[in-house]
Amino acid sequence: MKRKSYLNWSWIFMIAFIVLSVLDIRFGLLGIICMTVPLYHALRGRGKIHCSHYCPRGSLLGSFLKNISLGNNLPPFMKQKTVKNILLTFMVVMFSISLVRAGLNFDKIAFSVFRMMMSSLAIGVIMGIVFKPRSWCQICPMGHATSLLK
Ligand code: SF4
Repeated sequence: MKRKSYLNWSWIFMIAFIVLSVLDIRFGLLGIICMTVPLYHALRGRGKIHCSHYCPRGSLLGSFLKNISLGNNLPPFMKQKTVKNILLTFMVVMFSISLVRAGLNFDKIAFSVFRMMMSSLAIGVIMGIVFKPRSWCQICPMGHATSLLK
């Protein structure tokens, strides 16, 4: 069965996530959904369907940057598996450290998730302006982790 893509409007979830988290940092925990759903689909044997059909971040980058992107190609070295592995490891280590430092404080955990989400979005936006709009998707740790599972 051919699945419908929601990429032309799923960016709404990313905007809603940002607004809600700014209003109340506890909503930052919703970012865990964004981190785990791609892995869930991959583990169910659906490969990178999250990236191609649903991802709010990918949708936002693709929808909002297409008119301002310089459209350059990503340098080949950035597409290397080693670079993706380093970035994935870096993200996991940094996120783990921030969770340990947050202890059992609910607000701090939520802030850690929110900060991780915003860091990747900020890098994605900068990359999307300098290179093609969804260049971040070529090195995204979640996308890479998903491809390792599929
Ligand atoms: S590569 Fe990352 S940002 Fe891009 S669509 Fe997949 S999960 Fe989303």
